[in-house]
Amino acid sequence: MKKIQMTTPIVEMDGDEMTRILWKMIKDELILPFVDLKTEYYDLGLPNRDKTEDKVTVEAALATKKLGVGVKCATITPNAQRMDEYKLHQMWKSPNGTIRSTLDGTVFRTPITIPSIHPAVKFWKKPITIARHAYGDVYRDVEIIADEPGKAKLIFEGEDGKVEELLVHEFKGPGVLEAMHNTDKSIRSFAHSCFQYALSLKQSIWFATKDTISKKYDGRFKAIFEEVFAEYKDRFAEAGIEYFYTLIDDAVARVMRSEGGFIWACKNYDGDVMSDMVSTAFGSLAMMTSVLVSPDGKYEYEAAHGTVTRHYYKYLQGEETSTNPIATIFAWSGAFRKRGEMDNLPELQNYADQLEGACFDTLNDGLATKDLVGLMEGITPTQLSSAQFLKAIRERLEKRLA
Ligand code: NAP
Ligand code: MG
Repeated sequence: MKKIQMTTPIVEMDGDEMTRILWKMIKDELILPFVDLKTEYYDLGLPNRDKTEDKVTVEAALATKKLGVGVKCATITPNAQRMDEYKLHQMWKSPNGTIRSTLDGTVFRTPITIPSIHPAVKFWKKPITIARHAYGDVYRDVEIIADEPGKAKLIFEGEDGKVEELLVHEFKGPGVLEAMHNTDKSIRSFAHSCFQYALSLKQSIWFATKDTISKKYDGRFKAIFEEVFAEYKDRFAEAGIEYFYTLIDDAVARVMRSEGGFIWACKNYDGDVMSDMVSTAFGSLAMMTSVLVSPDGKYEYEAAHGTVTRHYYKYLQGEETSTNPIATIFAWSGAFRKRGEMDNLPELQNYADQLEGACFDTLNDGLATKDLVGLMEGITPTQLSSAQFLKAIRERLEKRLA
């Protein structure tokens, strides 16, 4: 069989632990036999990040900015225990944080749904993608504990000398106070990423705040989204999708009663809370993909889960694990589809569709990894190891591509 050709490379970011093992297995079984793979390879495994003083992460992020499409394996975010385990020179920052800030991007998480796994919410028929604004609000707050009576004030001193001062509260006894901020620039980038991705998926986008209460702060989010949307309005109409704004409590109620099939853009805190709710309601973390989209339309694909450490320790003891590779495969298929779209390579786009189709065929035939076996209804699933599961997907992919 003639291999599918690529023109521009994809930025390939290798990672850690069990997902690093799966990464190689996926390439060997499902990619290299079919695609004349072109990647720019960056080893983001923790030992190499430590060796390069984390420069490799910055280089990978810049390469993604340049080439437009990246795919990333899960990586360890070091903590004190990892410092010991890997004898690190420094507690390197989260690679995802570095990549996100370099690309100024927004993360979109989408569940991969199959007929035999029913969402906890019975109305949901299609996936709901959550976009979380990743800057500011309470995540960059300052807080004070007022342990005696006194006045709390909010003061802004402009560089040109303008001063605005507001009384927050006159405390008669102990209490707490907090101030937070956001920037027009960050909100605008968030809005661009959201509208870009909505066009890319051809799905409508919802956004919600509490601007009836927070008239200036949340009102600013609403106004910037409206302003940015003006640039996308015609393209949305052409694609037959819409931008829908409502209050956050109304949004939550509507999401629960919806069929799904849209993108839900959330402020930082709302996204933190709602993404855990939505992903749990859809079933399994191992079936959740994640894509970082920059305001100028660069894409970095990955699985939403981590390096699955517990399975890796078993693997090191020679045990065959049943770790689910689906979200990592979908990171690759997402990257191939986007690369194909950008480079006008229909064969590569078709390969991405068939790869995902082969995963669905396998799952719909009742072949699954351990995490899914307990969730499947209406069929009697057979539990496979990761290696057996990938072989089953390969057989079906070969049939589809023949
Ligand atoms: P995790 O790797 O997502 O795993 C948590 C648990 O979820 C696993 O122990 C496993 O449960 C289940 N699970 C997750 N993915 C699975 C899969 N593909 N197949 C089967 N089961 C799966 O999270 P963690 O253990 O909290 O974090 C491990 C490391 O990953 C940490 O060092 C963290 O820094 C890193 N991390 C990286 C990213 C990223 O790169 N984007 C994201 C999150 C975490 P059972 O053990 O019960 O089977
Ligand atoms: Mg959270």
